[in-house]
Amino acid sequence: MADTTDLIQRATQLLNPADTPARDITKADALARIATAQALHTLAKNADYQPPANKPTPEPWPDGVTARFLTRGGILTNNQNATVDIHDTAHRSTALCRPCGWADDHGIDYRDKVLSAAQSHAGQCTALAQPTS
Ligand SMILES: [Zn+2]
Repeated sequence: MADTTDLIQRATQLLNPADTPARDITKADALARIATAQALHTLAKNADYQPPANKPTPEPWPDGVTARFLTRGGILTNNQNATVDIHDTAHRSTALCRPCGWADDHGIDYRDKVLSAAQSHAGQCTALAQPTS
């Protein structure tokens, strides 16, 4: 017999069918999904439900990193280490994409430009970080 965690995982998969575009969802489908989501919420509040333990723990930020953008590849693979890091000094602002090595660098007065370029790159970068172990 399936336990609550299995039921929740199966129902969650049914709630998010990857092959059904949003425009093809009928009102009845939407109402059924809402009812299922409410049931899941009730189940999830039960004492026997334990969230999956495979949630990655982000590593602490290195010294000097003042902002971070998770890359598209990091989002797709649930890799919290696939980031574009911003380093600021008194005079320079530098962006470095850890998975692919893309970089941008300007005077600190142009930090906004570095942030914007870093966010734009992170939103497109699908490079995978080299495994460390
Ligand atoms: Zn990159």
